[in-house]
Amino acid sequence: MRIKDLHGTVELANGTKMPYLGLGVFQTPNDQIKKAVHAALDFGYRHIDTAAFYENEDGLGEAIKTHAIPRKELFITSKVWNTDQGYDQTISAFNQSLKKLQTDYLDLYLVHWPVKGKFLDTWRALETIYEEGRVRAIGVSNFMQHHLEQVMESGNIVPMVNQVEFHPHLVQQDLVDFCKKHNIQYEAWSPLMQGKVFEIDLLKDLSAKYNKTIAQIVLRWDLQKGVVTIPKSVKKNRIEENASVFDFEISEEDMKKIDALDCEGRIGPHPDDI
Ligand code: NAD
Repeated sequence: MRIKDLHGTVELANGTKMPYLGLGVFQTPNDQIKKAVHAALDFGYRHIDTAAFYENEDGLGEAIKTHAIPRKELFITSKVWNTDQGYDQTISAFNQSLKKLQTDYLDLYLVHWPVKGKFLDTWRALETIYEEGRVRAIGVSNFMQHHLEQVMESGNIVPMVNQVEFHPHLVQQDLVDFCKKHNIQYEAWSPLMQGKVFEIDLLKDLSAKYNKTIAQIVLRWDLQKGVVTIPKSVKKNRIEENASVFDFEISEEDMKKIDALDCEGRIGPHPDDI
């Protein structure tokens, strides 16, 4: 990943350009999303990550429509929820998401979790939607290596993205390496451990050393590891802070120190328990 500024992108396996830093909107209520998204777009964000499960696609649709930036300059991700998995249900869920988002295509559509007995059919539906030209890229979320291998064996298209819990306490370097080998872009959810990164001593030290906030250190670490990141905030000052990570570089030595914080510490469920 060549890191330049907030408009920088990674190129997915099919050539689609995905901004490597976006705004997450999990737990952002419909009545706050417009303000948050507009603050992000005004500052230069072009990538927003939602999901049917977040129940704010309609608010996001309104936010996009009422902002001056044209739809084609934005990168919008949504995801099919677990109870909508299966071939036909996924196609309907996708149509529903488009309607709520007031758009006729998505930039990225993901299988939210690998629901046992369903996710291969769900993937076939994503392939259909992709072949119809209604989504620019398709991928998965919360897939372990064995889930990815099943999709790669039974499907026609290799997932282009895997969005996974990723932060200093959960690195899963083997999965990162597997994805890299197969040209599956790794994407971090809960990059700030939903606020828990602020308690980690090493990060406090690095924050002082680089004269950057802990959030900025962690998000810069994501990018330097080649991982797309989507921190969530509804506050303008934090939205701006989280995207101000382009005027410093973490040394190799300090990158390794952050890597060494890994302790398999999940804040979300294990994908095999879904
Ligand atoms: P996060 O790690 O981004 O943390 C967000 C919280 O950290 C905020 O609510 C705020 O309290 C705090 N915060 C943010 N910026 C801050 C700053 N600069 N200073 C101090 N505090 C700050 O958590 P998240 O929302 O769980 O994850 C980010 C996004 O990832 C989500 O919004 C969603 O889009 C996506 N996500 C996906 C999945 C999935 O299963 N695919 C699961 C969870 C989240």
